[in-house]
Amino acid sequence: MKFAPSTPVSEVSWIPRNRVANLARLGLHTLADLVSHYPRRHEDRSHFGAFPEAATDQPVLLLGRITKASYLPYGGWKRGFEATLEEEGRGPLGGRISCRWFNMPYVGKSLAVGLRMVVYGRTKLRGKKVIIDFPEYELLDDDSAPDALIHLHRITPVHPAGEGVTPRKLREWIFRALDATDLARIESLIPGETTNAARTHALRAIHFPDSFDDLESARRTLVGEEFFAMQALITSRRTHVAGLPGTARTSPGTLARALHASLPFRLTRAQNRAIREIAADLAAPRPMNRLLQGDVGSGKTLVALTAALLTIEAGHQAAVMAPTQILAEQHFATFNRLLTPLGITVALRTGSKTIDPEDAPLFAPDQTHPRGGLVVGTHALLYDPAVLQNPGLIVIDEQHKFGVLQRAKLIEHPAGPDVLVMTATPIPRTLAQTAYGDLDVTTIDELPTGRGKIITGIREAAKLAAAAEFLRAQLDAGRQAYVVYPLIDESEKLEAKAATAEFEKWQPLLTPHACGLLHGRLKPDEKEAVMRAFRDGATKALVTTTVIEVGVDVPNATVMLVENAERFGLAQLHQLRGRIGRGVHKSYCILVPGADTPEAREKLGVLEKTTDGFLVAEADLRLRGPGDLLGTAQTGLPPLRLGDLLRDTSLIQQARDLAREIFSADPTLARPEHAALKTWLATQHARFRTLAS
Ligand code: ADP
Ligand code: MG
Repeated sequence: MKFAPSTPVSEVSWIPRNRVANLARLGLHTLADLVSHYPRRHEDRSHFGAFPEAATDQPVLLLGRITKASYLPYGGWKRGFEATLEEEGRGPLGGRISCRWFNMPYVGKSLAVGLRMVVYGRTKLRGKKVIIDFPEYELLDDDSAPDALIHLHRITPVHPAGEGVTPRKLREWIFRALDATDLARIESLIPGETTNAARTHALRAIHFPDSFDDLESARRTLVGEEFFAMQALITSRRTHVAGLPGTARTSPGTLARALHASLPFRLTRAQNRAIREIAADLAAPRPMNRLLQGDVGSGKTLVALTAALLTIEAGHQAAVMAPTQILAEQHFATFNRLLTPLGITVALRTGSKTIDPEDAPLFAPDQTHPRGGLVVGTHALLYDPAVLQNPGLIVIDEQHKFGVLQRAKLIEHPAGPDVLVMTATPIPRTLAQTAYGDLDVTTIDELPTGRGKIITGIREAAKLAAAAEFLRAQLDAGRQAYVVYPLIDESEKLEAKAATAEFEKWQPLLTPHACGLLHGRLKPDEKEAVMRAFRDGATKALVTTTVIEVGVDVPNATVMLVENAERFGLAQLHQLRGRIGRGVHKSYCILVPGADTPEAREKLGVLEKTTDGFLVAEADLRLRGPGDLLGTAQTGLPPLRLGDLLRDTSLIQQARDLAREIFSADPTLARPEHAALKTWLATQHARFRTLAS
């Protein structure tokens, strides 16, 4: 008789009562929890290599016997313990490694001469001595001990452990749980797969595989299920949004055509396609919930503006929200210039400023039916009754500052607004479908023609003078420049001081050209004045923090020099670089690393090689992992335990297709084989609602 998967760990003989609470702290309450507590890595303990005699780049796995163990002589805070490990069975030919731990008193208590031990870590050389500092270690019984085959002579799992629960103990308990539990009764979330033999095998092999191939195929089986659950959640959320009441906003498009006719350029094919997709959403009687992604400079603003005109012509109000004051004011200026000739009212509201035309106010306090018009502002706009009363279209620019929960609140507004979010951090399609899975995605994959090229180069800090010379030559030729440096100190006083010091360094280097100084601590109207002077060409160079990062549009600026460039993320640098190359002139981006390390070179090298935002984003994801982008709080999705969003794209695609198939056949999941999935989804939705409230 096997145990049911729901059996509490407190009811089985092989788990000591006094460890039940420790397991609970790891979230492990039942046998099912235990067998789905996946290893963080595996060690190949089927054979051990010879002890290295030099430093290693990669961690090595070694088995030996402790021949010496003692506290290190130096005292103070660095109290250390050293154990000498000798290779077994090779006599005087065997190698010797010194393992050291500092400030970990319990290590000294557990290690003693004569014990057998496996260690895992990187070696280094000190004189002739080979050392591993802070190795992971595990004491082993001799091969004749009954447990030896759980821990040794196999590909051995190492599980995430915790207080009172060592990896070795966990391994033992999980090994026994796999044997004693009726694994076929651990329900799969994929309908109909519960008793699948491959899955039962996978549950075992993900811990104790026969080979690395076996491990990989187990991983694929379980990852498939994990992605399926995630895609099912996304699909059900989309199904929910699609069922919300919305308003059909149809317009003849006269205003939009008039706007396009007034432009000195033609829209790109990608812009036109995006507009068609959005227009169809606006005209449909359900709320639009769409992401518009496109590289820096691909012309998203114009697409948004066109959507606003379609909304206004349909008799509704449109709101465009920008992440910063500078950007809101820039949009306001642009929109005013473009829309005033068409007779459309534009109003501005930010935290510190309201501009509302007197003859046709958009923020009048008691409008039950707001006039058609365009309001521009920061996110403060969201809480503005004039906008909240009866929102038609809401555009959120640069959406990475705006989480899924805020989005969910907007889309659930009883007035059924159409929501368009725009991001300039384009990401690969499968990832977008997961990270922004609740949204329909439109991608602008084409830049307007006639843009000057951007050349990017890395220059050592020592050559700053030459770089400054180059900047000045560009200014002499009538162009403008940005000098960007990272915020090193968060405190207000220091920030303003650092900014001022930078400014005082650069101004003499660039004389006779006038420089402006922009940083986050300036008052809003001071910022605006600095930006206006730069936009009008009164100042030729702008020394700035990353407040300049998003959206600022000054086509005459052709040089950007970024100091301490390695401190920025790649996506952020790409955004910064997007401030140049906006006009017809050739542009130059100079990256000056503060510390010239191989990591900095690798990272910045990506920008030297490409100006394609998608490629930059992919490299960024590879270097940093998708965690940043997929923070649980951001997406409201459960964290992935096995899946890899970058590696497993084909599995994501399959999971998505399957989830859609199931939901289109049975939107309420009424069929009995969907029971496990339905229960799971209900739990997840409840969690999401709690987060959102
Ligand atoms: P982003 O997608 O980064 O928000 P913007 O909307 O700010 O890009 O557009 C960048 C610049 O390109 C603006 O000056 C805009 O007027 C211009 N622009 C937009 N569409 C086109 C086009 N089809 N052809 C030429 N220039 C365009
Ligand atoms: Mg923009």
